[in-house]
Amino acid sequence: MASRQHQNQSSTGKASVQKDGLPSPRVKAVAAPVRAFAKVQQKPSDPGGEQSEDLPVVELRQSLLDWYQRCGRELPWRNNPDPYAVWISEIMLQQTQVKTVLPYFQRWMVTFPTVESLAMADQTAVLKQWEGLGYYARARNLHRTAQIVAEEYGGQFPRNFDEVVALPGIGRTTAGGILSSAFNQRAAIVDGNVKRVIARLIALDRPPAKAMHRLWEVSEALIDPENPRDFNQAFMDLGATLCTAKNPACLICPWRSHCAAYNLGTQSELPMRESKGPLPHKIIGVAVIWDDQGKILIDRRPQKGLLGGLWEFPGGKLEEGETLEDCVAREVKEELAIDIEVGEKIMTLDHAYTHFKVTLNVFRCKHLAGEPQTIECDEVRWVELNELDQFPFPKANGQIIEALKAEDAAT
Ligand code: SF4
Repeated sequence: MASRQHQNQSSTGKASVQKDGLPSPRVKAVAAPVRAFAKVQQKPSDPGGEQSEDLPVVELRQSLLDWYQRCGRELPWRNNPDPYAVWISEIMLQQTQVKTVLPYFQRWMVTFPTVESLAMADQTAVLKQWEGLGYYARARNLHRTAQIVAEEYGGQFPRNFDEVVALPGIGRTTAGGILSSAFNQRAAIVDGNVKRVIARLIALDRPPAKAMHRLWEVSEALIDPENPRDFNQAFMDLGATLCTAKNPACLICPWRSHCAAYNLGTQSELPMRESKGPLPHKIIGVAVIWDDQGKILIDRRPQKGLLGGLWEFPGGKLEEGETLEDCVAREVKEELAIDIEVGEKIMTLDHAYTHFKVTLNVFRCKHLAGEPQTIECDEVRWVELNELDQFPFPKANGQIIEALKAEDAAT
């Protein structure tokens, strides 16, 4: 199942939708239902040369909607177009697969059933609910947006595209997803699934990242003005269930007869990929520091930056010519201004983020001197081992906690 991988292009989306949330006259003209074909003409300024396709948009819309009626996925936010539930699902689905999102969504709606309950929650409680879902800026932005919606919009999610896309964490595709799903507005989307389907439908001759203008143009041309809600959902389902990244199920696809990639036999080679180098690899030293009472030191990361607001065991990046033990002692001194004794290594963990990977080298440490200071963190606490579950930690730190608990249970 493919992930949504929404794109958060911001202001570029405003040109296609008017202030009242309706599509601009240009888009209406392209997608008017009386037209059987829409010519998707590449602009001269668009890199990659002149190309155009004649897409039978009415036929494509109808065949997709018919397929969706028969084969669309049952998802909890679809049967209830409550803007709050739709917004939460759209944010969770950014960069995350549906099957992963489902249990998080259900738990979230029990803990924070309304925008007001989310607005009033403590950030630690919000991050705890999000723990394990990754891309934690999404949780911080949800919290902030809930406060804006509660304070500035009287608790009612805005319906105007410009207002929606101005909210934290909401780009053009997410705004289109929310407005079409919650309010049945004709707002197009170009998430990861839609990108892949369009790239194959028109046999795109460049990586999608280099053809965003064209992908938006096709999505805007295709969206059904009579039923934009179901059309966008169907478009995403097609990408997630049939037009998958590997082994697309072309033989049962409703768009097979009009799909350029299928007709050319190139569906497995598209979309074209960007050539990327290997991910940078960081070696990290991590300290689990105990005091004389058997408490463990944790700190909260600064709000801005990767994993902002989450708790962690202190540590940092190995510098050239340094031993891991020296790295741990130095990082703890710089971060918290305390002296520690670095003992044996507890474990080594590998973890990958989108743009880099890390190896965490975790050491058993003893507090020697100094009161912990919040020099490179927002908060510091000494906690019991069994209290660690109350705090939101990054996934790799969660593995350290499990190892500490197992060790404790065995002694
Ligand atoms: S025919 Fe195949 S490649 Fe084309 S849209 Fe359908 S599943 Fe994707």
